[in-house]
Amino acid sequence: MSNDTGTPSSSGERRVDVGGVSLATGHMIGGVWVDSSATFESRSPLDWDGGPLAHVSRGDQATSDAAVTSSLEGFGVWGAMTAEERAAVMHRLADLIEARNEEIAAVESLDMGFLQESMRLRLVARGALNFRTYADLIVAAHERDWEAKSMRNVVQRMPAGPAVVITPWNAPFMLSTWKLAPALAAGNSVIHKPAEWSPLTASILAELTIEAGFPPGAYNLVQGIGEEVGAALVADDRVRRITFTGSPETARHIGRSAAENLVPFTAELGGKGPFVVFADADLEAAAKKAAWQFDDSGQVCLAGTRLLVEESIREVFLERFHHYADELVLGDSRDADTDIAPMVHPEHRDRVHGFVERARAAGDTVVRGGQPVEGSLHYEPTLIEPASNQSEVVQSEIFGPVLTFQTFADEAEAVELANSTAYGLSAIVYTTSRERAERVGRSLRSGLVWVNTFLVRDLTAPFGGCGISGIGREGGDHALEFHSDLKTLMILDDTTT
Ligand code: NAD
Repeated sequence: MSNDTGTPSSSGERRVDVGGVSLATGHMIGGVWVDSSATFESRSPLDWDGGPLAHVSRGDQATSDAAVTSSLEGFGVWGAMTAEERAAVMHRLADLIEARNEEIAAVESLDMGFLQESMRLRLVARGALNFRTYADLIVAAHERDWEAKSMRNVVQRMPAGPAVVITPWNAPFMLSTWKLAPALAAGNSVIHKPAEWSPLTASILAELTIEAGFPPGAYNLVQGIGEEVGAALVADDRVRRITFTGSPETARHIGRSAAENLVPFTAELGGKGPFVVFADADLEAAAKKAAWQFDDSGQVCLAGTRLLVEESIREVFLERFHHYADELVLGDSRDADTDIAPMVHPEHRDRVHGFVERARAAGDTVVRGGQPVEGSLHYEPTLIEPASNQSEVVQSEIFGPVLTFQTFADEAEAVELANSTAYGLSAIVYTTSRERAERVGRSLRSGLVWVNTFLVRDLTAPFGGCGISGIGREGGDHALEFHSDLKTLMILDDTTT
């Protein structure tokens, strides 16, 4: 699968062949590849024991210092370009992403285990769309200009400076583009630190930014371990924005650095979404979508992992749910027939199993699955009936193919259960009543609520979580606002008289 010779190429940088794609394994700083002598291994969940896919540069304090210095230089050029000029470069990047679709899909599939077909058909295209959407939004984001108090009032949007963008290992390519695009559109330079469990598609993206015409230093990539180079980046007081997607635990660390330097910080964090099914729902659609919460082996922050079903349809719902769950094919992510991919890392699979074992010991009932699959990194799609709403599997994000099942007597109890965790990222509701959809939808404490659908979203709408699911909102103008410093300019009408 890989040919990691660590041999420098003719241009000097170390490269590796992953699934037929040649990748640089270093950092991109100031528009050139820079290698660290220290490395970390990236292994494939598809063949964990088959040796490393790549030895990736392991950045340190000096790497972080160099990247921030480069981003300041890049900011001087990129931030001074017009919105139209930046948008043209971003559209070129989107074109290049589309042209490299197959390669990006193949590498992500090997590196993270993501279903290759899903990458090819949905996530790579979405990555390109993220850049196009923000390119168009920044061009359309005209300044406000009005007369009041005998003055001309102008609201100017100023780029803020270098932005550190830290991303997680699940859906790494799409999530990175989602966070990088608004920062760049706003005129900020970026330093991207991808997750160490799936660092490789970030390398393709960085390479494409050079081809697209980003000035040196506008776009920097730093590889390495979160607690090392990630911590160094967020502690640098020259950084003007920090945007993070990952776990609440890491957000607390990053938030301390942001507070120390008084730097605005957004965080997209974990979820424990309710999946609420009323007796009046289209049962087939609801049960099928519920079984599909095992998608990506449950490594999805938005997943509806707590099935809450009206008591009167308990048996019929469970029968249909098991029917659809039985159809899911566990297999190799490169195979188009596969529905459920292996988990990203043995450590994560063991962590997920730990939740299930503790649930068993605590008296919860495992009604489906509940074991790692022999010979691969898969975990059986698992359903647990908790002994109480306080069970750990109900209250904590597991981030694996483990759902819980509870029933409710009426709408009030459904809402109470749905709102009963510290998270509040997303919720899914199935009902055929428009009034109920409106009433329940408005009662849920959640940043996103889908009724009779899931995942589809207009990218200009706000995105983010309540409670420990996040700080701030991304999406549309919200992300542009975060990445900008707004200035109000007041000019007395008779200034020139
Ligand atoms: P994580 O918090 O362990 O790591 C995320 C990133 O932070 C990685 O790049 C890591 O290297 C870096 N990091 C770790 N410690 C750091 C430190 N001290 N300073 C700076 N950077 C540091 O999260 P993960 O395990 O990679 O991702 C899974 C989590 O992400 C889940 O909780 C999931 O729900 C969440 N997530 C949320 C969303 C969303 O949009 N809300 C989307 C995807 C994933």
